[in-house]
Amino acid sequence: MKLKVPVNSYEASVKQIEAGADEIYMGLEDFHFNRMSYSARAQIASSGVHANLTEADFAKSVQFAHSKNVTVNFTANCQHITKSEGDFYRKNFLEYVRRGISLGADAVIVADIGNLIALRKNGIDTPVIAGSYLNCFNSETVALLKDLGVFRICIPDQVTFNEIKSIKKNTCLEIEIFVGYGCSNLAGMCRFYHNSGEQIHVGVPCRAKFIRNNEESVSIMDACPDCAICSIPKLYDLGIDSLKLIGREMNIEEIVNITKMYKSAIQQYAMEGRFDRKEIISSISWWENEMCCERCKYEDTCLLRSYI
Ligand SMILES: [Zn+2]
Ligand SMILES: [Zn+2]
Repeated sequence: MKLKVPVNSYEASVKQIEAGADEIYMGLEDFHFNRMSYSARAQIASSGVHANLTEADFAKSVQFAHSKNVTVNFTANCQHITKSEGDFYRKNFLEYVRRGISLGADAVIVADIGNLIALRKNGIDTPVIAGSYLNCFNSETVALLKDLGVFRICIPDQVTFNEIKSIKKNTCLEIEIFVGYGCSNLAGMCRFYHNSGEQIHVGVPCRAKFIRNNEESVSIMDACPDCAICSIPKLYDLGIDSLKLIGREMNIEEIVNITKMYKSAIQQYAMEGRFDRKEIISSISWWENEMCCERCKYEDTCLLRSYI
């Protein structure tokens, strides 16, 4: 089971690979836009972090990754490219993808069926991973994506463990599990803006606390589980091909700690067939209270029961 992690600079690539990444994923800066990009993250997040790499950093990261046998996935996972005058968005999307491939990316992450078809129509035959924004919830969608030449599917985090099991059983495609945390809604479908290019720092509004009738403040829309450490043994036993962490918009030091924690969990389970959950989780002091305890992904929790 591989660990795939985000990077947002060359320094981040080095740190993430040294922390144990088997695969890294990243986007490219794009001068057609001020803030938005084709990589499903703002070029500059509201926190001020540059989420995408310059061409020079991208090329250096690819070189370093390949020297360590680490695969590079390139994010071209924006949705909703509409027809515009002169087909501005589509033309530049294709140019963006070609730039990443020419800089050495091993696979492209795509999150829109139209974009996927457009890549193939335009002779771009690089291996494609269906990103979680494609919201692939069942075996029928997996089969369609297979026909479109996808080799791996990233399953969104609302899919339950039993559903993942049945998807895995019915396909030869690689299955990636989304283990990041953040939005409470369907991936990429949130009506609140976060990390899409907004300049004001609004945090993650779908998880914010709201004051109801001038009374207590409650996080009425918060329905996203956070921790996947606890479910690593069963994901591993199921033969899941890759775990995907998020955080291109975050400070790299924070993400590296999370990478290290997931890596040591996977390694410990792979080597010893057992798993000291408490010890692993204790490496990040806030994880247990804020992310675990009834907030675990792929487990039967009150969060899951609230929408099933
Ligand atoms: Zn959201
Ligand atoms: Zn947990």
